[in-house]
Amino acid sequence: MIVLHCPWLHVSGMALWPFILIRDREGMSDASLILHERIHHRQQLELLILPFYLLYAVNYAINLVRYGSRLKAYREIVFEREAYAMDAKEDYLQQRRPYAWLRMFHMKH
Ligand SMILES: [Zn+2]
Repeated sequence: MIVLHCPWLHVSGMALWPFILIRDREGMSDASLILHERIHHRQQLELLILPFYLLYAVNYAINLVRYGSRLKAYREIVFEREAYAMDAKEDYLQQRRPYAWLRMFHMKH
């Protein structure tokens, strides 16, 4: 994991394995933001990187049609649902089951 400070980023953080890009300097020491992006790294490795981005984009597009809101479409992507649900749990990655995001397809919200 390599954390980079990227002031030009349009979002607060982004995971591009093996990099984590963080927009604001304060974000570099934000434990839940870093954990959020590390969860995405785990998801990316499980899908051998490129298919992750493909599934992410397809899930977003389907959600956009379904919800008609960009924010809701983003937050309901299964990878984001797992990351947002777990990014405050410090030890999450130690106890996480492989492909945990799959369960988010079924979980009520
Ligand atoms: Zn995310």
